[in-house]
Amino acid sequence: MLAGNPSPMTLEGTNTWVLREPGSASVVVVDPGPDDPGHREAILLEVGDARIARILLTHGHPDHSQGARSLSIRTGASVAALDPQHRLGDEGIVGGEVVVVDELEIEIIATPGHTDDSLSFHLVRDGALLTGDTVLGRGPTVVAHPEGRLGEYLDSLTLLRDLAEATSAQWVLPGHGPAVTAPTSAIDAYLAHRASRLDQVRASLAAGASSADEVLEDVYRDVPRTLWPAARLSVLAQLTYLDDRSGRTS
Ligand SMILES: [Zn+2]
Repeated sequence: MLAGNPSPMTLEGTNTWVLREPGSASVVVVDPGPDDPGHREAILLEVGDARIARILLTHGHPDHSQGARSLSIRTGASVAALDPQHRLGDEGIVGGEVVVVDELEIEIIATPGHTDDSLSFHLVRDGALLTGDTVLGRGPTVVAHPEGRLGEYLDSLTLLRDLAEATSAQWVLPGHGPAVTAPTSAIDAYLAHRASRLDQVRASLAAGASSADEVLEDVYRDVPRTLWPAARLSVLAQLTYLDDRSGRTS
């Protein structure tokens, strides 16, 4: 379900996912989205007579998490997240855990990088990966320095890619943008994009860029200026990543 919060950062808006096995009286809601009464009512309409067993968050950014509290108060459903400050009446979820609601089976996968607390959810029976902001329906995501870390992000992408391949996954269901078929090639494209950006940053440094802003001007010329504040965070994440690596190898 699409929330009404479109922006350059959220694409058409935040995707809220209502998960239900056929015939089940219980649902799981992933990412209730912003605290918007209209969106909350739309979710409740979709849930209908079913019970919300649990609300899960892919990460704590407000465009995904802010509506969780009011939905929880309204329905009594607990809110589970990796970050304790976003939990409500719930012991939380961590990578490696499996959440089972009736026949619905959700594997929790730790995918840090976009943020420290980013999780992805693998719907085992459906061959679907809910990726939050780790993989979007289109366009690259932001590695939100300093909390987001590029090394972890690349590891998370590789993990998701290998899982998609090993399980012949059919879908990426992202936090923003359309559902993606062919998850393996979509994630390969993400990895290729990150590699080419890193090459561009290295080339910019080699050509004499001496600050994050100079690298930004150089490397993100093709990106609309409205996205530069976010792109700047990705530049900082890349510079930190390259710094750490040169520190390790020298
Ligand atoms: Zn988001």
